Amino acid sequence: MKRQRNPCIVCGRPVASLLPIARYCGVCRAAVADIRRGIHRQIQAAALPHPSEFDCSDCGKPATEYEHRYYALPLEVEPVCTSCNLKRGPALDVVELVQARLAMTGKTKGAKPTKDWSKYQVK
Ligand SMILES: [Zn+2]
Ligand SMILES: [Zn+2]
Repeated sequence: MKRQRNPCIVCGRPVASLLPIARYCGVCRAAVADIRRGIHRQIQAAALPHPSEFDCSDCGKPATEYEHRYYALPLEVEPVCTSCNLKRGPALDVVELVQARLAMTGKTKGAKPTKDWSKYQVK
């Protein structure tokens, strides 16, 4: 059986990676990385303790990172471990934020914005 490439959850273009967890095309992944860099700066500026000082909110193992439900609220975070972060899925506003960013930078060529990306969310 031929493996199908996932459509990018933001713009619907095919995702280059065949990994089942790959969610973004190259353009959108770059935009997400950009958003995350901005958030990281705000977390550092707010002097939040490193997430490894906490236990994972979901499973109680040592946390490794902060998890965002909304990137628009960069300081509303919960410490989680890597596997729980993956299970939680992308931030609920990441598609909106990246779509806005693509529109701003004119990188919408070939994009078919996906509205139905709720299936990627943790129920
Ligand atoms: Zn995309
Ligand atoms: Zn965990």
